[in-house]
Amino acid sequence: MNTQDEKIRFDAIVVGAGLAGSTAAMMMARAGLNVALIERGQKAGGKNYFGGAIYTHAIGEVLPDFMDRKPPFERPVTEAGFWMLSKDGGLTKMTVQGGKLGAEPADAYMASRAVFDVWWAEQAQREGALLIPKTSVVDFIRDSAGQVIGVSTDRAQGDVYAPVVIICEGVNNLLTQKLGLIDHDLEPAHVALAFKQVIALPMDTINARFGLPDEKHGLAASVLGDVSLGLPGMGFVYTNNTSVSVGLGMMLDAVVEYRLKPYEVLQRYLRHPAIAPLIKGGQLMEYGAHLIPEGGYRDMPKLYTGGAMVAGDAASMVNALHWEGTNMAIVAGKLAAETAIEAHKQGDFSAQALSQYEARLKDRFILKDMKQYRNFARFLETHPEFMDAYPGFINDALGQFFSAYGMPKKTLFKNILGSLTSRRQLFKAVGDMLSMGRAVMGW
Ligand SMILES: Cc1cc2nc3c(=O)[nH]c(=O)nc-3n(C[C@H](O)[C@H](O)[C@H](O)COP(=O)(O)OP(=O)(O)OC[C@H]3O[C@@H](n4cnc5c(N)ncnc54)[C@H](O)[C@@H]3O)c2cc1C
Repeated sequence: MNTQDEKIRFDAIVVGAGLAGSTAAMMMARAGLNVALIERGQKAGGKNYFGGAIYTHAIGEVLPDFMDRKPPFERPVTEAGFWMLSKDGGLTKMTVQGGKLGAEPADAYMASRAVFDVWWAEQAQREGALLIPKTSVVDFIRDSAGQVIGVSTDRAQGDVYAPVVIICEGVNNLLTQKLGLIDHDLEPAHVALAFKQVIALPMDTINARFGLPDEKHGLAASVLGDVSLGLPGMGFVYTNNTSVSVGLGMMLDAVVEYRLKPYEVLQRYLRHPAIAPLIKGGQLMEYGAHLIPEGGYRDMPKLYTGGAMVAGDAASMVNALHWEGTNMAIVAGKLAAETAIEAHKQGDFSAQALSQYEARLKDRFILKDMKQYRNFARFLETHPEFMDAYPGFINDALGQFFSAYGMPKKTLFKNILGSLTSRRQLFKAVGDMLSMGRAVMGW
């Protein structure tokens, strides 16, 4: 415990130098606040892991000149969409390329978080934020009325004071729970365990295998079908400059219930006849796993209390269908920072003053999308056929449609219908489509 005279004081404290945290620190430091950005890892992003692609609309909102600052992006996403694998080795690609995806700068870029997060935190440091790595926040310091006025860390004499704390601790939201903003631990049915490999390959080999003209083109594909053993889950393939990220996410409860070994499930996926040739001869550079909060709107904590706000994965701000998490984290970090800056102007850090954060989120895509997709987690839980039976049917149906069997087409269409009804009764299939429409549209 520090004595009264030795108290370490800042205008604001940010917990976690991930995307949300470094953004919040950057914005507040730019506004002239004295900001401590506390990160438990050796460096920013040291413990971070993702697919994945980072969206430039969010980066540009915070750093309009980001391209001049030479961000450590990998390839731009110039082709994106779904791949569907079937058990008999089939692959149907439903991807889009060019058009809007040909814009410069691109809508999204592949990135390595271990590299990108360091650069992003450096931008916050350039604005004047103080990055304090290798330090875990373990609790909050509150005044007699219960308002947060600082944090305690795992360092000796590690109490740090500030009138406002922005919690950007990621998916393991222990501090958010400690503050009583949510009253339960993450439910295994609402958390995906994502595991992936990064496989090194020469640039030209990646271009040839993925049909990309050069390294200025890249693919981001979500992979459905014979990926997750018929359980709720989805794979992904991303092309970096000289490596390919391949992995999949499965709901944690299924992994536990069926005693699945993630490494074996991943190996099975990587051995699929449509995937194996893409990574053949490559060298394994990285293997890792990370959780993704996929519970959506219904799992979101209260977003503020007196002296504190919570942003990013810690607040379940992820749209699983669209692989959007980085942009929500960045924009939420920015909105929390704007609220803190306003609170400083008014000298009011009460819960009521910080409720402006939620109002700002409601105005933007974040709370609008989270609310619209509020039933999507439940939909995925109850409709695993979208990840297995239907992708299998689409492969089979297209395979039949584009083959000449020398049979009357009436018989062909009957066979295609049979391929569907062998997987799912027709009236159930119609109901599934309606359910999906409702889950996506938020009806
Ligand atoms: C496999 C995978 C693929 C993904 N693909 C995509 C994609 O393609 N596109 C996309 O937009 N999103 C994707 N996401 C989601 C995205 O990665 C997250 O939504 C995003 O990283 C959330 O950012 P954040 O700042 O909230 O949390 P994080 O990036 O997790 O940062 C939290 C930080 O807080 C630190 N921390 C935690 N506790 C403490 C503490 N007590 N004290 C100090 N520091 C602490 C951590 O070390 C970490 O640095 C993917 C996620 C995974 C796992």
